[in-house]
Amino acid sequence: MPIIVDHGCGYDPIFNGEKALAYLRRICFVSEDLGAGLNPYTLKGSALRRYLRLSRNRAIIVSKAFMENGWTVEARPFEYKGHDAVNVIAYHGDGIEPGAVLIIAHHDYCAGVGAEDDGTALGVMLELAAHVVDYRNVVFASCDLEECGAIGSETLARELEESLQLEFKAVIALECLGSGKDVVISSRMDGVDSDRDLMYDILCEAPFGSGISFMDFDCFYSDHVPFARRGCKTAQMCSLDKANKVPASEMDAQREEVARGGRRKDGSVAHTCFDKPGEIKVENLELVGQTLLNYIRRHAGVRPSLLRTSTEKNR
Ligand SMILES: [Zn+2]
Repeated sequence: MPIIVDHGCGYDPIFNGEKALAYLRRICFVSEDLGAGLNPYTLKGSALRRYLRLSRNRAIIVSKAFMENGWTVEARPFEYKGHDAVNVIAYHGDGIEPGAVLIIAHHDYCAGVGAEDDGTALGVMLELAAHVVDYRNVVFASCDLEECGAIGSETLARELEESLQLEFKAVIALECLGSGKDVVISSRMDGVDSDRDLMYDILCEAPFGSGISFMDFDCFYSDHVPFARRGCKTAQMCSLDKANKVPASEMDAQREEVARGGRRKDGSVAHTCFDKPGEIKVENLELVGQTLLNYIRRHAGVRPSLLRTSTEKNR
């Protein structure tokens, strides 16, 4: 069912979940089916090269779609165990401006065709990029090698810190948005707290009655963690069946079941052979996309360079 929101802004059409799903399908189209999955931590040689090639295929599709929507795209290659990996960032104009909102996801995947993990986030980002009017101060990033310890986002955060470009107003990670029944904002990831104010700011932009809530997730690593560790205000959105969240003590048993080709108890298809476009709920993409679109309109502000241009013009 479509979510109808009167945000009172009077401009821009609402976020289109079907279009986000169409972007996701484009990304999955270039993705080989990895079945019940592989463990990227253990890959080396030709197996690692193949993993990175599949990841790069998705990065190319994502970059192309950003460019089609008028964004500047920067590919930032880096080396991992002697092989080429790549992060991608997209912004308007000549560079990242201070105070931007950074929305981040990853293009590598380790099971199925990576529709849920993390094609859903890439689809939402790309449809969002088509909606965000160009005077808003927003940056998108898609990272490599998230599945083996957020290597790509760690590299990106370090590089931005070194070039004094880490002055984000907020960093929002999108991770596995489409197959769980409930959309949640995680309050804690891998020992790092999300920013309380940012969590409430996002929640307040969700369509009324959306059911988005906060949830603790201390059992896995994600792309916003390297930014949180460097002092950025961060949060993460993802989806699962809240009622069936798997406790840490049962994680190993679930992993074995998934390796045998079984399903997860929490409803998510991430890291399972079921990670395919047919499992994705378009209404989840619409809910996350609309919430972020509302958030960007209210919080992302005008790009400083455009403010300067209009002041100069008025002189
Ligand atoms: Zn992921």
